Amino acid sequence: MNNLEQTLSIIKPDAVERNLDNEIKEMFKSNGFSILKEKKIKITKTEAEQFYKVHETKPFYNDLCAYLSSGAIVVMILEKENGVLANRELMGATNPKDAEEGTIRKKYGISIDKNSVHGSDSIDNAKIEIDFFFKD
Ligand code: UDP
Ligand code: MG
Repeated sequence: MNNLEQTLSIIKPDAVERNLDNEIKEMFKSNGFSILKEKKIKITKTEAEQFYKVHETKPFYNDLCAYLSSGAIVVMILEKENGVLANRELMGATNPKDAEEGTIRKKYGISIDKNSVHGSDSIDNAKIEIDFFFKD
């Protein structure tokens, strides 16, 4: 059965800063994802606050938004069969310490805040997040 889904992926500043974006993109491709669109950008703190609005009541919200707007990021639309969940699995747990072997966060993540990648957590949020970055 064909259930191609699109999801939004972000390679975060800690990974772009270490020039890991190509390696991480290869990891997506070798795990069967197509990269439909991609761009390397820098966002403002206000944009980060809009993007992460769902977390606005969390204690880490301010630091998270400051961090995501601190350097270049690579945003991508990924596509794969059951792509939303497949991307979450390939990313690994939010805290790299808890991430399984073979996941992006296990391989590249530095800490819970500098965990190298973002991925949409549901089909609905994937649509919202794709629109956020790619609606022209
Ligand atoms: N985060 C953090 N401290 C925490 C929890 C989360 O800095 O205690 C950051 C982390 O970078 C994470 C992001 O906030 O990726 C969004 O949190 P979420 O729970 O949505 O994790 P994710 O969906 O990225 O795995
Ligand atoms: Mg999340």
